[in-house]
Amino acid sequence: MQKQSIIGLDKQELTELLTSWGQKTFHVKQIWQWIYFRGAKSFDEMTNLSKDLRQKLQENFTLSRPKIVAEQISKDKTHKWLLEFDDGERIEMVYIPESDRGAVCISTQVGCAMGCKFCHTGSQKLTRNLTAGEIVLQFMVARDTYGEWPSPTDETRYLSNIVVMGMGEPLQNEENVIKALNILSDGDGIAVSRRRITMSTCGIAPKICDVLEKTGVRLAVSLHASNDEIRNTLMPINKVYNIEQILKEAQKYQQKDGSRYITFEYLMLDGINDSTENAKELIELLKKHKIRATFNLIPFNPWPGCDFKPSTPQKVKAFADLLNKAGFAAPVRVARGQDILAACGQLKSAQK
Ligand code: SF4
Repeated sequence: MQKQSIIGLDKQELTELLTSWGQKTFHVKQIWQWIYFRGAKSFDEMTNLSKDLRQKLQENFTLSRPKIVAEQISKDKTHKWLLEFDDGERIEMVYIPESDRGAVCISTQVGCAMGCKFCHTGSQKLTRNLTAGEIVLQFMVARDTYGEWPSPTDETRYLSNIVVMGMGEPLQNEENVIKALNILSDGDGIAVSRRRITMSTCGIAPKICDVLEKTGVRLAVSLHASNDEIRNTLMPINKVYNIEQILKEAQKYQQKDGSRYITFEYLMLDGINDSTENAKELIELLKKHKIRATFNLIPFNPWPGCDFKPSTPQKVKAFADLLNKAGFAAPVRVARGQDILAACGQLKSAQK
Protein backbone atom coordinates (compact mmCIF):
# COMPACT_ATOMS: atom_id res chain seq x y z
CA MET A 1 0.00 0.00 0.00
CA GLN A 2 1.20 3.48 -0.86
CA LYS A 3 2.29 5.50 2.15
CA GLN A 4 0.33 8.64 3.01
CA SER A 5 1.94 12.08 2.95
CA ILE A 6 2.34 13.60 6.39
CA ILE A 7 2.14 17.04 4.77
CA GLY A 8 -1.39 18.33 5.20
CA LEU A 9 -2.03 16.82 8.63
CA ASP A 10 -2.89 19.64 11.01
CA LYS A 11 -1.71 19.91 14.61
CA GLN A 12 -4.86 18.26 15.91
CA GLU A 13 -4.40 15.26 13.61
CA LEU A 14 -0.72 14.95 14.52
CA THR A 15 -1.64 15.04 18.20
CA GLU A 16 -4.19 12.27 17.72
CA LEU A 17 -1.65 10.24 15.78
CA LEU A 18 1.07 10.51 18.42
CA THR A 19 -1.39 9.74 21.20
CA SER A 20 -2.53 6.62 19.35
CA TRP A 21 1.15 5.56 19.17
CA GLY A 22 1.59 6.15 22.90
CA GLN A 23 3.99 9.05 22.26
CA LYS A 24 4.19 12.33 24.15
CA THR A 25 2.31 15.18 22.44
CA PHE A 26 5.18 17.68 22.84
CA HIS A 27 6.70 15.95 19.80
CA VAL A 28 3.95 17.52 17.67
CA LYS A 29 5.67 20.92 17.76
CA GLN A 30 9.05 19.34 16.95
CA ILE A 31 7.68 17.42 13.98
CA TRP A 32 5.76 20.47 12.81
CA GLN A 33 8.89 22.61 12.85
CA TRP A 34 10.91 20.02 10.95
CA ILE A 35 8.27 19.78 8.24
CA TYR A 36 7.07 23.34 7.91
CA PHE A 37 9.81 25.53 9.39
CA ARG A 38 12.92 23.73 8.19
CA GLY A 39 11.44 22.00 5.14
CA ALA A 40 12.83 18.56 6.06
CA LYS A 41 12.68 16.05 3.24
CA SER A 42 13.50 12.98 5.32
CA PHE A 43 12.50 11.78 8.78
CA ASP A 44 16.20 11.01 9.46
CA GLU A 45 16.83 14.75 9.65
CA MET A 46 14.56 14.98 12.71
CA THR A 47 17.42 14.42 15.13
CA ASN A 48 15.64 15.62 18.26
CA LEU A 49 13.14 12.75 17.95
CA SER A 50 13.89 9.27 19.24
CA LYS A 51 15.06 6.70 16.72
CA ASP A 52 11.90 4.69 17.38
CA LEU A 53 9.59 7.60 16.59
CA ARG A 54 11.51 8.47 13.45
CA GLN A 55 11.25 4.88 12.31
CA LYS A 56 7.52 4.77 12.98
CA LEU A 57 7.02 7.97 10.99
CA GLN A 58 9.17 6.57 8.19
CA GLU A 59 7.15 3.34 8.07
CA ASN A 60 3.81 5.13 7.81
CA PHE A 61 4.35 8.42 6.01
CA THR A 62 6.29 10.25 3.32
CA LEU A 63 7.60 13.80 3.09
CA SER A 64 7.91 13.62 -0.66
CA ARG A 65 7.16 16.50 -3.01
CA PRO A 66 5.10 16.29 -6.18
CA LYS A 67 7.12 15.55 -9.28
CA ILE A 68 8.21 18.64 -11.22
CA VAL A 69 7.27 17.67 -14.78
CA ALA A 70 8.25 20.96 -16.38
CA GLU A 71 9.50 24.39 -15.37
CA GLN A 72 9.54 27.56 -17.42
CA ILE A 73 10.91 30.99 -16.59
CA SER A 74 9.59 33.90 -18.61
CA LYS A 75 11.47 36.96 -19.84
CA ASP A 76 10.24 38.89 -16.79
CA LYS A 77 11.40 36.09 -14.42
CA THR A 78 7.91 34.73 -13.76
CA HIS A 79 8.38 31.07 -12.93
CA LYS A 80 5.84 28.38 -13.83
CA TRP A 81 5.91 24.79 -12.62
CA LEU A 82 3.88 21.86 -13.92
CA LEU A 83 3.53 19.51 -10.96
CA GLU A 84 2.34 15.90 -10.91
CA PHE A 85 0.86 14.20 -7.88
CA ASP A 86 1.02 10.51 -7.00
CA ASP A 87 -2.12 9.62 -8.99
CA GLY A 88 -0.72 11.25 -12.13
CA GLU A 89 -2.93 14.37 -11.93
CA ARG A 90 -1.18 17.60 -12.82
CA ILE A 91 -1.56 21.26 -11.93
CA GLU A 92 0.35 24.44 -12.62
CA MET A 93 1.57 27.03 -10.16
CA VAL A 94 3.40 30.28 -10.69
CA TYR A 95 5.82 32.54 -8.84
CA ILE A 96 5.58 36.22 -9.74
CA PRO A 97 8.66 38.05 -8.45
CA GLU A 98 8.89 41.77 -7.65
CA SER A 99 12.20 43.44 -6.79
CA ASP A 100 12.38 42.44 -3.12
CA ARG A 101 9.39 40.12 -2.67
CA GLY A 102 6.94 38.09 -4.70
CA ALA A 103 3.73 36.09 -4.75
CA VAL A 104 3.26 32.40 -5.30
CA CYS A 105 0.00 31.71 -7.13
CA ILE A 106 -1.31 28.31 -6.07
CA SER A 107 -4.02 26.03 -7.43
CA THR A 108 -6.82 24.33 -5.51
CA GLN A 109 -8.35 21.95 -8.08
CA VAL A 110 -7.29 19.95 -11.12
CA GLY A 111 -9.24 21.82 -13.80
CA CYS A 112 -12.30 23.85 -12.89
CA ALA A 113 -16.05 23.39 -13.19
CA MET A 114 -16.93 27.09 -13.26
CA GLY A 115 -16.43 27.51 -17.00
CA CYS A 116 -15.64 31.25 -17.06
CA LYS A 117 -15.49 32.06 -20.73
CA PHE A 118 -12.29 34.12 -20.60
CA CYS A 119 -10.29 31.56 -18.62
CA HIS A 120 -8.01 28.90 -20.06
CA THR A 121 -8.33 26.74 -16.92
CA GLY A 122 -12.11 26.88 -17.29
CA SER A 123 -11.78 25.04 -20.59
CA GLN A 124 -10.23 22.07 -18.76
CA LYS A 125 -12.94 20.07 -17.03
CA LEU A 126 -12.74 19.49 -13.29
CA THR A 127 -11.00 16.22 -12.47
CA ARG A 128 -10.72 16.46 -8.71
CA ASN A 129 -10.14 18.67 -5.70
CA LEU A 130 -6.61 18.98 -4.37
CA THR A 131 -6.05 17.77 -0.82
CA ALA A 132 -4.87 20.21 1.86
CA GLY A 133 -1.41 18.63 1.61
CA GLU A 134 -1.27 19.09 -2.16
CA ILE A 135 -2.17 22.77 -1.77
CA VAL A 136 0.50 23.32 0.90
CA LEU A 137 3.08 21.33 -1.06
CA GLN A 138 2.95 23.82 -3.93
CA PHE A 139 4.33 26.55 -1.71
CA MET A 140 6.87 24.12 -0.28
CA VAL A 141 8.12 23.29 -3.79
CA ALA A 142 8.60 27.02 -4.38
CA ARG A 143 10.58 27.32 -1.13
CA ASP A 144 12.68 24.29 -2.11
CA THR A 145 13.40 25.85 -5.50
CA TYR A 146 14.40 29.25 -4.11
CA GLY A 147 16.23 27.87 -1.05
CA GLU A 148 13.97 29.78 1.31
CA TRP A 149 13.81 27.42 4.23
CA PRO A 150 15.34 29.15 7.24
CA SER A 151 19.08 29.13 7.52
CA PRO A 152 21.02 30.80 10.35
CA THR A 153 22.67 33.30 8.04
CA ASP A 154 19.96 34.31 5.59
CA GLU A 155 16.43 35.26 6.54
CA THR A 156 15.56 37.03 3.28
CA ARG A 157 12.19 36.04 1.94
CA TYR A 158 11.33 36.59 -1.69
CA LEU A 159 8.35 34.24 -1.54
CA SER A 160 6.50 36.70 0.67
CA ASN A 161 2.89 36.42 -0.49
CA ILE A 162 0.43 33.75 -1.53
CA VAL A 163 -2.43 34.27 -3.92
CA VAL A 164 -5.00 31.51 -4.25
CA MET A 165 -5.74 32.36 -7.85
CA GLY A 166 -4.35 29.43 -9.81
CA MET A 167 -6.39 26.58 -11.23
CA GLY A 168 -9.77 25.93 -9.66
CA GLU A 169 -12.39 27.70 -7.56
CA PRO A 170 -11.23 27.58 -3.90
CA LEU A 171 -14.75 27.80 -2.49
CA GLN A 172 -15.68 24.60 -4.31
CA ASN A 173 -12.99 22.88 -2.22
CA GLU A 174 -13.41 24.89 0.93
CA GLU A 175 -12.63 22.26 3.55
CA ASN A 176 -9.18 21.52 2.12
CA VAL A 177 -8.52 25.17 1.34
CA ILE A 178 -9.31 26.24 4.92
CA LYS A 179 -7.02 23.56 6.30
CA ALA A 180 -4.21 24.40 3.86
CA LEU A 181 -4.37 28.16 4.51
CA ASN A 182 -4.25 27.58 8.25
CA ILE A 183 -1.15 25.39 7.85
CA LEU A 184 0.53 27.92 5.53
CA SER A 185 -0.07 30.78 7.97
CA ASP A 186 0.75 28.91 11.20
CA GLY A 187 3.40 30.87 13.09
CA ASP A 188 5.39 27.77 14.12
CA GLY A 189 5.93 26.69 10.54
CA ILE A 190 5.74 28.30 7.11
CA ALA A 191 4.29 31.42 8.76
CA VAL A 192 3.13 33.48 5.80
CA SER A 193 1.08 36.23 7.43
CA ARG A 194 -2.67 35.95 6.83
CA ARG A 195 -2.56 39.54 5.61
CA ARG A 196 -0.21 38.41 2.85
CA ILE A 197 -2.52 35.68 1.63
CA THR A 198 -5.33 36.54 -0.79
CA MET A 199 -8.00 34.12 -1.82
CA SER A 200 -9.82 34.84 -5.03
CA THR A 201 -13.31 33.55 -5.75
CA CYS A 202 -15.59 33.79 -8.76
CA GLY A 203 -18.38 34.45 -6.25
CA ILE A 204 -19.81 31.41 -4.47
CA ALA A 205 -21.66 33.91 -2.29
CA PRO A 206 -22.88 31.75 0.65
CA LYS A 207 -19.40 30.41 1.39
CA ILE A 208 -17.43 33.67 1.30
CA CYS A 209 -17.81 34.84 4.91
CA ASP A 210 -17.39 31.40 6.43
CA VAL A 211 -14.06 30.68 4.73
CA LEU A 212 -12.70 34.14 5.49
CA GLU A 213 -13.69 33.87 9.14
CA LYS A 214 -12.01 30.50 9.44
CA THR A 215 -8.76 31.61 7.78
CA GLY A 216 -8.42 35.38 8.25
CA VAL A 217 -7.00 35.83 4.76
CA ARG A 218 -7.84 38.63 2.33
CA LEU A 219 -10.63 38.46 -0.21
CA ALA A 220 -10.51 39.08 -3.93
CA VAL A 221 -13.59 38.65 -6.10
CA SER A 222 -13.41 38.03 -9.83
CA LEU A 223 -16.08 40.52 -10.84
CA HIS A 224 -15.31 41.31 -14.49
CA ALA A 225 -18.67 42.99 -15.19
CA SER A 226 -20.72 45.93 -14.02
CA ASN A 227 -24.14 44.30 -14.43
CA ASP A 228 -25.69 40.84 -14.47
CA GLU A 229 -26.42 40.92 -18.16
CA ILE A 230 -22.72 41.10 -19.03
CA ARG A 231 -21.61 38.86 -16.18
CA ASN A 232 -24.07 36.13 -17.20
CA THR A 233 -22.39 35.91 -20.58
CA LEU A 234 -18.88 35.71 -19.08
CA MET A 235 -19.36 33.66 -15.93
CA PRO A 236 -22.07 30.96 -15.74
CA ILE A 237 -21.91 31.07 -11.91
CA ASN A 238 -23.56 34.50 -12.06
CA LYS A 239 -26.86 32.80 -12.90
CA VAL A 240 -26.65 31.08 -9.51
CA TYR A 241 -25.17 33.91 -7.42
CA ASN A 242 -25.55 37.30 -9.05
CA ILE A 243 -23.65 40.53 -8.42
CA GLU A 244 -26.14 41.73 -5.80
CA GLN A 245 -25.73 38.53 -3.75
CA ILE A 246 -21.94 38.69 -3.95
CA LEU A 247 -21.85 42.33 -2.88
CA LYS A 248 -24.15 41.64 0.06
CA GLU A 249 -21.71 38.99 1.29
CA ALA A 250 -18.78 41.32 0.71
CA GLN A 251 -20.57 43.97 2.76
CA LYS A 252 -21.20 41.46 5.57
CA TYR A 253 -17.51 40.54 5.61
CA GLN A 254 -16.48 44.19 5.90
CA GLN A 255 -19.01 44.87 8.64
CA LYS A 256 -17.26 42.21 10.76
CA ASP A 257 -13.81 43.67 10.20
CA GLY A 258 -13.80 47.33 9.21
CA SER A 259 -10.12 47.36 8.29
CA ARG A 260 -10.52 44.95 5.42
CA TYR A 261 -10.52 46.13 1.84
CA ILE A 262 -11.83 43.89 -0.90
CA THR A 263 -10.08 43.58 -4.21
CA PHE A 264 -12.24 43.29 -7.28
CA GLU A 265 -10.50 41.67 -10.19
CA TYR A 266 -11.70 43.21 -13.42
CA LEU A 267 -10.53 41.82 -16.73
CA MET A 268 -10.60 44.50 -19.44
CA LEU A 269 -12.29 42.95 -22.47
CA ASP A 270 -12.52 45.04 -25.60
CA GLY A 271 -16.07 46.17 -26.36
CA ILE A 272 -17.58 43.97 -23.66
CA ASN A 273 -17.11 45.51 -20.22
CA ASP A 274 -14.74 48.44 -20.74
CA SER A 275 -16.94 51.48 -21.50
CA THR A 276 -17.22 54.60 -19.34
CA GLU A 277 -20.86 53.55 -18.68
CA ASN A 278 -19.58 50.30 -17.23
CA ALA A 279 -17.20 52.18 -14.95
CA LYS A 280 -20.01 54.47 -13.74
CA GLU A 281 -22.27 51.49 -13.13
CA LEU A 282 -19.58 49.87 -10.99
CA ILE A 283 -19.08 53.00 -8.93
CA GLU A 284 -22.81 53.23 -8.27
CA LEU A 285 -23.00 49.60 -7.22
CA LEU A 286 -20.16 49.88 -4.70
CA LYS A 287 -21.44 53.15 -3.29
CA LYS A 288 -24.90 51.67 -2.87
CA HIS A 289 -23.46 48.76 -0.87
CA LYS A 290 -20.92 50.99 0.97
CA ILE A 291 -18.07 48.69 0.06
CA ARG A 292 -14.48 49.77 0.53
CA ALA A 293 -12.64 48.27 -2.37
CA THR A 294 -9.71 48.36 -4.68
CA PHE A 295 -9.92 47.34 -8.30
CA ASN A 296 -7.30 45.37 -10.10
CA LEU A 297 -7.71 46.15 -13.77
CA ILE A 298 -6.27 43.23 -15.70
CA PRO A 299 -5.37 43.51 -19.35
CA PHE A 300 -6.78 40.38 -20.99
CA ASN A 301 -4.16 37.71 -21.65
CA PRO A 302 -5.09 35.84 -24.84
CA TRP A 303 -4.73 32.06 -24.95
CA PRO A 304 -5.03 29.61 -27.84
CA GLY A 305 -8.61 29.35 -29.12
CA CYS A 306 -10.17 32.29 -27.25
CA ASP A 307 -12.24 34.99 -29.01
CA PHE A 308 -11.76 37.91 -26.60
CA LYS A 309 -9.49 40.84 -27.29
CA PRO A 310 -7.74 43.08 -24.77
CA SER A 311 -9.07 46.62 -24.31
CA THR A 312 -6.94 49.40 -25.74
CA PRO A 313 -4.61 51.16 -23.27
CA GLN A 314 -6.64 54.38 -23.81
CA LYS A 315 -9.85 52.69 -22.73
CA VAL A 316 -8.17 51.10 -19.73
CA LYS A 317 -6.82 54.48 -18.68
CA ALA A 318 -10.21 56.20 -19.05
CA PHE A 319 -11.83 53.42 -17.01
CA ALA A 320 -9.18 53.64 -14.27
CA ASP A 321 -9.45 57.45 -14.14
CA LEU A 322 -13.19 57.30 -13.48
CA LEU A 323 -12.75 54.77 -10.66
CA ASN A 324 -9.91 56.82 -9.16
CA LYS A 325 -11.98 60.01 -9.23
CA ALA A 326 -14.73 58.18 -7.34
CA GLY A 327 -12.22 57.24 -4.63
CA PHE A 328 -11.37 53.68 -5.68
CA ALA A 329 -7.76 52.73 -6.30
CA ALA A 330 -7.64 50.98 -9.65
CA PRO A 331 -4.11 50.01 -10.63
CA VAL A 332 -3.67 48.37 -13.97
CA ARG A 333 -1.98 45.06 -13.39
CA VAL A 334 1.12 44.57 -15.47
CA ALA A 335 0.74 41.27 -17.30
CA ARG A 336 3.39 38.85 -16.07
CA GLY A 337 4.66 35.66 -17.65
CA GLN A 338 2.52 36.05 -20.76
CA ASP A 339 5.17 34.49 -23.00
CA ILE A 340 4.98 31.20 -21.07
CA LEU A 341 1.17 31.25 -20.56
CA ALA A 342 1.65 31.91 -16.86
CA ALA A 343 -0.42 35.09 -16.67
CA CYS A 344 -3.80 35.46 -15.09
CA GLY A 345 -6.39 33.07 -16.54
CA GLN A 346 -3.85 31.26 -18.72
CA LEU A 347 -3.07 28.22 -16.57
CA LYS A 348 -3.95 24.79 -17.84
CA SER A 349 -2.38 21.41 -17.18
CA ALA A 350 -4.08 19.16 -19.70
CA GLN A 351 -0.97 18.68 -21.85
CA LYS A 352 -0.46 15.11 -20.62
S1 SF4 B 1 -11.54 32.11 -13.57
FE1 SF4 B 1 -11.25 30.78 -11.79
S2 SF4 B 1 -13.33 30.03 -11.38
FE2 SF4 B 1 -13.38 30.83 -13.47
S3 SF4 B 1 -12.93 29.03 -14.77
FE3 SF4 B 1 -10.98 30.07 -14.35
S4 SF4 B 1 -10.13 28.98 -12.59
FE4 SF4 B 1 -12.33 28.50 -12.70
